[in-house]
Amino acid sequence: MSEKTQASSDIAFDRPGKQQGYLRVPHSHNTAGWGSVQIPMTVVAHGSGPTLLALGGTHGDEFEGPVALMKLARELQPEAVRGRVIIIPALNLPAVLAGTRLSPVDGQNLNRAFPGAYNGSVTSLIAHYLTHVLFPLADIVMDIHSGGRSMVFYPCATLHRVPDAGQYARMLAAAKVWGARYVFIYADIAGEGLLPVQAEQMGKLVVTTEMGGGGECNPGVLQVAERGIRNVMIQQGLLAGEITTPPYPVETVAATEAGDYLAAGADGVYESFYEVGAEVQAGQALGQVHSVERPDRPPELVVARSSGILIGRRAIGVTGQGDNVATIARPVSA
Ligand SMILES: [Zn+2]
Repeated sequence: MSEKTQASSDIAFDRPGKQQGYLRVPHSHNTAGWGSVQIPMTVVAHGSGPTLLALGGTHGDEFEGPVALMKLARELQPEAVRGRVIIIPALNLPAVLAGTRLSPVDGQNLNRAFPGAYNGSVTSLIAHYLTHVLFPLADIVMDIHSGGRSMVFYPCATLHRVPDAGQYARMLAAAKVWGARYVFIYADIAGEGLLPVQAEQMGKLVVTTEMGGGGECNPGVLQVAERGIRNVMIQQGLLAGEITTPPYPVETVAATEAGDYLAAGADGVYESFYEVGAEVQAGQALGQVHSVERPDRPPELVVARSSGILIGRRAIGVTGQGDNVATIARPVSA
């Protein structure tokens, strides 16, 4: 996997102690011919132990991850750590600064850009650096997502059903200790090139989440995220201390069938009948799309095809045909 990358960093990953530096990604544009995107990165290393790569801001409109990780980066001191923690709170920095899912620099989705390309655009160069420099250093890859502007999730730790049974067991244990109400096993319904898939294929213990959404930084959800990061670090031996148990049972649910993901059948304004967390039945109407131009026409119903928990719903009113408006997750005995 060792390969030249155009992105680079001034951080010495093998040095103990705390370092604050940048991941520099070349970005030549009209007002800075020799410019670069400079993505803040903190490394805290002490003693022997695993390496955690903790990422937020893969999508720029999801804020619990960046806020929790900026706080961790300021507070974490080397003496508290056994191993190494590499923290990048705003991985897609241009997108986070713009508050947009996609990069304003090249219009790309960093979570569809993996493995990245040596000669790619800025987003692709970030992915390429992770694939070839940071993932090989890491034992644990944590990528903290929220629903973004377009989606609201019941806060959950998420994972794929990876084929390696040992890797899956370790990922499931980490997802459970994260301490959100749900552990959500999901399928990729919108394209390839995901960051966690790349890390999974490289054998990493991958921890991902969907913390709330709607483009905000929710105080209650932020608490879940901060507790989750700390719990996983303790579980993996990076921090001393006691795992904090949440004040509710943690249940495992799955949306692994295409029918679990429901899309709008027409353009219009989406009205969800339920809040996330609601229990719903197959055949039940979950919401409806109103035609703005033809309010005299009956709205187009969105009907559940499976029974379970409404784990995610659309957050933006204005909706296009094909936009995901509801996701149903079914309880599983994991
Ligand atoms: Zn996301």
